[in-house]
Amino acid sequence: MGSYGKKEDNAAELISHFSHLKIADALSDYVDSDYVIFGVPFDNTSSYRRGSRLAPNSVRSAYDNLESYEVNYNIDLLNCKICDLGDLPVYEDVDYVLSEIETVTDIIFRDGKIPVMLGGEHSITVGALRNVKDASMIIIDAHSDFRDSYMDNKFNHACVTRRALELLGENRIISIGTRSTSYEEINSPEYHNVRFISANEVRKNGIDAVIDEIRKRSKNRIYFSIDMDGFDPAYAPGVGTPEPYGLTSVDVRSILTAFSDKIIGFDINEMTPLYDNGNTPMLAAKLIQDFIASREAYLKK
Ligand code: MN
Ligand code: MN
Repeated sequence: MGSYGKKEDNAAELISHFSHLKIADALSDYVDSDYVIFGVPFDNTSSYRRGSRLAPNSVRSAYDNLESYEVNYNIDLLNCKICDLGDLPVYEDVDYVLSEIETVTDIIFRDGKIPVMLGGEHSITVGALRNVKDASMIIIDAHSDFRDSYMDNKFNHACVTRRALELLGENRIISIGTRSTSYEEINSPEYHNVRFISANEVRKNGIDAVIDEIRKRSKNRIYFSIDMDGFDPAYAPGVGTPEPYGLTSVDVRSILTAFSDKIIGFDINEMTPLYDNGNTPMLAAKLIQDFIASREAYLKK
């Protein structure tokens, strides 16, 4: 016995010697975990640049380059209870993928854990939301995603906010970073049941005013969904449908960390490594760290 009978926890050091498609700080097994990461490599309804099915492992690889110690919160992520289940097997059919996500997130929620879902495209969020009740939702997105149907499909990634409104109800959803919508969407009567805070408003009013407004509008339980095209393409170039004039990385971090103690479910989606310079999965990996470390810092208080 190498340690002469003394039981040491060498998991982090041992794992660092191997290549592995797993979030590097995910050392817990499912039973012991608080945060349950899994990938959904699905991009079948994407309308422009495909490739988000390749994103989960690009985030895992990028994460390998980050320190486990988070200096801003004095939290070591190796001590946080994170597990990475791997990727859900997906097929071409969005209905099937959403029902699989619904099934697994139901179990994760019932076990009192937080699902952290890596897309894949934005449509995957709806599967998790089917299990969310009596909660608010914060979305980061360039697009309103408010079409009732797109390309003959109500579960297309262009319809996510509309489906979320049906599941969660009026005045529960705040979508931040909006700068692309259609005439038809903005003129639908239901549009005003969601608070869309445009990227221009964020720039004009400042992030603190935006956070104050979200605080007044949101409940104590929040589902948080990040469509990476909400960022300006300068910060996140590798996305399926890029839109100029977006949010900064620091703005989104501020929103995420202001509410992380209330978050019950989290997803990051719409990244496509095929059009990337490497910055997009790195930002996604960092957002996962900021979410978990800031939340753990709140819980310690
Ligand atoms: Mn979206
Ligand atoms: Mn979008």
